Amino acid sequence: MARVYFLLGGNLDDRERILSEAILKMKSEIGELVNCSSIYETEPWGFDHDLNFLNQVVVFDTRLLAEKVLDATQQIEKDLGRVRKKDQYSERTIDIDILFYEDQIISTDRLVVPHPRLQERLFALVPMVDVAPELIHPVEMKSIRELLVECPDEMEVKKFKH
Ligand code: ATP
Ligand code: CA
Ligand code: CA
Repeated sequence: MARVYFLLGGNLDDRERILSEAILKMKSEIGELVNCSSIYETEPWGFDHDLNFLNQVVVFDTRLLAEKVLDATQQIEKDLGRVRKKDQYSERTIDIDILFYEDQIISTDRLVVPHPRLQERLFALVPMVDVAPELIHPVEMKSIRELLVECPDEMEVKKFKH
């Protein structure tokens, strides 16, 4: 079994419902849900969208290899992206990023793990602290808590739910 940490994010459609639908699909396609962070609300990077993002870290134990986990999350992104919104299809209903896969360091065309921008993003580090503050980043060789303290990001990350 491998322990995998995911960051879920979305700013379109019914954001909370989409998060729980993604988790439901991940339970059937990926493995056993071990832990969830609180849900946080963050302003979007850049000016592309008016709606704030919801972000949540979820932890799973899986028998799938990392590449297969990515196949599964990309399929789930596609399935949930096809939710109809007025007369259009919304493009980016949910984003599922793999933050960590055990303590493996992976770098292929399709997959870089740990996620290369994790340490720059408060919206990833804040929910990671909920579930694994002492986890050591295998490239940076620092704990999540240390990475949060050192993170230069100044974006506001507000607790949205529990
Ligand atoms: P960012 O990665 O900066 O958060 P993004 O999530 O908006 O950007 P996407 O368009 O969702 O980027 O993904 C682009 C590609 O990133 C995917 O096709 C996937 O192959 C690749 N990728 C590389 N590493 C990872 C990872 N750790 N988790 C998810 N996708 C990854
Ligand atoms: Ca992302
Ligand atoms: Ca992504």
